[in-house]
Amino acid sequence: MAELKLYSLPPLPYAAGALAPHISEAQLTLHHTKHHQAYVNGANALLEKMAKARKENADFDVKAALKELSFHAGGYLLHALFWENMAPAGKGGGGVPKGELAKAIEANFGSFERFKKEFTATATGVEGSGWAALCYCGRTDRLLLVQIEKHNVNVIPAFRVLMVLDVWEHAYYLDYKNDRGKFVDAFWSIVNWEAVAHRYAEAVKGR
Ligand code: MN
Repeated sequence: MAELKLYSLPPLPYAAGALAPHISEAQLTLHHTKHHQAYVNGANALLEKMAKARKENADFDVKAALKELSFHAGGYLLHALFWENMAPAGKGGGGVPKGELAKAIEANFGSFERFKKEFTATATGVEGSGWAALCYCGRTDRLLLVQIEKHNVNVIPAFRVLMVLDVWEHAYYLDYKNDRGKFVDAFWSIVNWEAVAHRYAEAVKGR
């Protein structure tokens, strides 16, 4: 039987201190090497547990395992996307979207300012731990905002996720303590619009 792959922690696409002062080196290092790594480990532990049971033809609690796998794999994937949709301020990060993405934002939200306001409300309004996500629905050719609870609740299966913002407290407490709003404001200075536009183009192509 072919060897199946496990998850592995992707390297950050920039130096850990490159997003400062918006996200400090200490905060980003902790987030990447401890929290993101924990989801990699959690997902792999589940994959290995299921593989072992299958090999021994033994039973495992399918419902519990799949629920836990969804949480960890979701955490793994969302963090990988999160690192990619940021870039150092002024060096690919911040500013405004361009091209087709800019047009789509205007068509769907009325203006970039209005989009920013709604995305901010999406992020600040997440109850407890979760994410704000900008998504694309191929069925309607629309951009839609989503609040993802934890890493996996409220996910609409076919939506392509274009941009995410982690609003778990572990994403900002070293820099902003409990002030999530301040962190969300800072995020706009480090959004990598080119990366988001690329994902949008791929999503439209694949609808
Ligand atoms: Mn996180």
